[in-house]
Parts: sequence; C-alpha cells; structure tokens
Amino acid sequence: MSDNKKPEKIVGIRGMNDILPADAPLWELFENTVQTVLKSYGFQQIRTPIVEPTPLFARGLGAVTDIVEKEMYSFVDSMNGDLLTLRPESTAGVVRAVLEHNLTYDGPKRLWYAGPMFRHERPQRGRYRQFHQVGAEAIGFTGPDVDAELILLCQRLWDDLGLSGIRLELNSIGDAEERNRHRADLVAYFEQNSALLDADAQRRLHSNPLRILDTKNPAMQELVNAAPKLIDYLGAESLAHFEGVQKILRHNNIPFTINPRLVRGMDYYNRTVFEWVTDQLGAQGTVCGGGRYDPLVEMFGGKPTPACGFAIGVERVLELMKAAGEVTAADQCDVYLVHQGEPAQMQSFVLAERLRDAGLDVVLHCASAGGSTSFKSQMKRADASGAAFAIIIGEDEVATDTATVKSLRASEGAGQQATVPFSGVADYLVDQIVGDHDHEHDHGAHVHYKP
Ligand code: ATP
Ligand code: MG
Repeated sequence: MSDNKKPEKIVGIRGMNDILPADAPLWELFENTVQTVLKSYGFQQIRTPIVEPTPLFARGLGAVTDIVEKEMYSFVDSMNGDLLTLRPESTAGVVRAVLEHNLTYDGPKRLWYAGPMFRHERPQRGRYRQFHQVGAEAIGFTGPDVDAELILLCQRLWDDLGLSGIRLELNSIGDAEERNRHRADLVAYFEQNSALLDADAQRRLHSNPLRILDTKNPAMQELVNAAPKLIDYLGAESLAHFEGVQKILRHNNIPFTINPRLVRGMDYYNRTVFEWVTDQLGAQGTVCGGGRYDPLVEMFGGKPTPACGFAIGVERVLELMKAAGEVTAADQCDVYLVHQGEPAQMQSFVLAERLRDAGLDVVLHCASAGGSTSFKSQMKRADASGAAFAIIIGEDEVATDTATVKSLRASEGAGQQATVPFSGVADYLVDQIVGDHDHEHDHGAHVHYKP
C-alpha cells in the first residue's frame, strides 16, 4: 500500500451465514443421516443449478405468493440480459430437470436434493436469506401411499437424529374446483366482515384469500376460526385420498393432528399438505413443509404427472440437534508429523503419503506465518491437534533411516517413545491404532453424537 491506510474489511451479506469448522461435525452428521435414510426408501439424489430462469419461479410458484411477490433474488445477467433468479426453493428446478431429461419415461421417480436456497426476508432466528433445504420429490405417483411414505420417511429421520417433540400437522386442500367453490364463499365471508381484516388480509382478499387463514395476528383468530372450512368442500375422491393417507399413518403409529387451516405458500399444491412443527424454536417452529402438487408438471408443459414432496429447513433441524445433544468432532488427525531440517522434511512428505495410503489421517507440519519451526513449537502444535501420535524426523532419524514415534495420549501411555525403521512406520502405527481403538478408516466415524 502506498498510503498507510488499512483497507476496509469486506463483510458477508446480511442473513447469509458462514458455516464454520466448529459446526462441520453437526452438518456432517445431519447430511450422512439424511443420505442414509433417503437411500433406505429408494430415493435418488438430483442436483440442479442454484440459478434458474426467473419465469420458472414466476410461473411455477404463482405470482401472488410471498416468495414471488417479495422474496426472490432476481437480477439481469449483465453479460447477456437474461433474467435470472437464485432459487428460493427446489421443487420448480427439480420438475424442470425431470421434464428436460424426460426422467419419468420409464416410470415414476423418487428424487431428493439438498442445498442452499435464497429468499430476501427479514433475517431473524430461523429465518435467513441464504438457508439450506433437504427435500424429496416423488414424481409420477398418485398417492395416497406415497404421501404417507414421505411422512414415514421424515419420522424416521427425526428418530435417527435423536429428535423428539416434532409433531405432524395434516390437511387436505382438495383440488382446484373444490378450492374455487370454497374460495368464493371465503371471499364473501371476509367481505361481509371486512371491517375486521388487517392490512395484510385486505391485500390478500382477492389475490390469495387462503393465505389469510394462515394469519398469525391474534386479533383475527376468531374471524378466521369461524370462516368456511375447505375440508367441508372436498368431494368424494379428495376425501378418499385424504382418508387413505391417514389410514396408513395410523397403521404405522404416526400421530398427527388435522389442522383445517393449514395451507401451503405455493399455488401448485393440492390435496395432501403437511407440516412438521416444534415448540422448541420460538416463532419459526416449522421444520418441514410438504404436500402434493399434481398440477405442476402440466403447468410446466409436461403431460399430467401427479407428484408429492417435502422440504426440510436444515438450519432449524440443526438447532434442534444442538439442543438435544452434544456433537463433538473427533480429533483433526491420527498423526502429527514433526521434522527438522530439509532432508527430514523431504522424508516426512514421503512418510505422510505412505501413512495416508494406509488409511491414517496425517497432519504434516508446514511453515506458518509468524510460527516458529523449533522442535518445541512443533510439538505444541502436535498436542493441540489431538493426534494420538507424533512422529519426529530429525537429523538422527534421517541418518539411521528411522522415525521416532511418540504417543501423545494418556490412554496410550503419553510420552512413550519408540524408534521404528522408516519402512515399518505405517504398519507399526496401524497396529497401534487399530488395536487400541477399533479405528475405522472412515471419516463418518470421526463424528460422535452424544444425546
Ligand atoms: P414460512 O411460512 O415460515 O415463511 P414457508 O412456507 O416459506 O415458511 P417453505 O417454502 O415451505 O416455507 O420451506 C420449507 C421449510 O424451509 C420451512 O418449513 C422452514 O423450515 C425452511 N425455511 C423457509 N424459509 C426459510 C428461511 N428464510 N430461513 C431458514 N429456513 C427457512
Ligand atoms: Mg416463507
């Protein structure tokens, strides 16, 4: 710098969080569990881009939804003028990809995805501008069996994560014709009581009156409770479908409550809708929302294809996991390699690779800013790494073609030292570590969960 001014620090975007190494074990455990559970139900992963053409969401989600009205990160690609949007959810992108690649040509598909989503909301606990979802989409299934299966899958996930107190709310919002009849009566009812509507409800009265039922305004609860109920407008087919879902849930001992006011934000839902809710997270208590969206594929230009899915809010589930127990990372490595002098450093690189070939996790001491390369400070680093063993290679070791292996943990008799021929170090350590710990050469095993 020519002048002495320190450059200003650039900070991250509000509502978009860094996930720091301290939380990595928690994420890893969550992601591994999710993957295992989804696989156990025959779901296959699909990865779609984070950016999609804006019309995909405008058309797919419905123009009057919260997301499209005010939450989308949309922009013009300055390179070519394309209208793009950071995905606020993944169902639209998954359905686009399914159509584009004709994935259902040979039958229905069970798909899942995970990744960041973007919504321009007011950041608060449990509500971020970049957040993560894991979701499943069962495409080409008519239900109600697959609807129930998705719910069972969620229950298994909560169980495997050691989470309790997540309860299921269920509703059926029927089909378009049934909703239209209900909607007409609902609008008439709210119009008769228009003096009691708040500003939000006034705005939604003719655009999305169903969402008024979702209001959290205490002053409107009485009005909303007495409003015409969609469930009373369902025809025989919709009712049979809904009863079918409930029957499977009861048969599998999944408790649920029917919440006649439960609707979903997106326009494309029909029939089954559900939410998993907890009281442990304050105002943002919904950890998963899902339901059937039979009309969507056709809205995207495909042939009529029924479908059902859900999306889990990952950050909210992780908060529950944190509250339920302690997730600790295992140590950074099995071995920390200390060396002194250039020939020793060269030997160390060779040895470190051999140990990694043998399945061990190895940290090789490297030069660091302001760090001393003294033996003592390298050993301090070795202790701090949590490694079970330090390997020391100095001039003597190079001269005699050996390595010094020092045990660092009390349980291994800390301080015990052995001189091992260079070519035998890998075998020696594998013996020690496998013998003592039932050490698994699998990174999943490095995460421990103690409820
Ligand atoms: P809400 O009514 O709370 O705004 P939503 O209907 O917008 O929820 P969905 O689009 O159904 O939520 O998303 C599924 C799940 O994703 C939610 O239940 C929640 O757990 C999570 N989620 C949604 N928006 C956010 C956000 N901004 N930050 C963190 N998690 C979110
Ligand atoms: Mg929302």
